[in-house]
Amino acid sequence: MRGGNQRVEEHADGEWVVRRLTGSSSTKTYRCPGCDHEIRPATPHVVAWPLEGREEDRRHWHTACWSARERRGPTPGRGRR
Ligand SMILES: [Zn+2]
Repeated sequence: MRGGNQRVEEHADGEWVVRRLTGSSSTKTYRCPGCDHEIRPATPHVVAWPLEGREEDRRHWHTACWSARERRGPTPGRGRR
């Protein structure tokens, strides 16, 4: 697999490409959309973007926040009746 630790995960709102970054490959500060807090450099975390989307749409998440998202079930606003 190219780039190592990357896979496709199936979520309630579609398929996501998920890449797990190690601390040593994280050199910038990102903002996690799950908790709206910063992800400091050298923090192992998750990068995810929709399989149907573009890689430019990718978001950086804390590993725990990404897992919590998975458990929360369907995301409001999409697929809502
Ligand atoms: Zn977070």
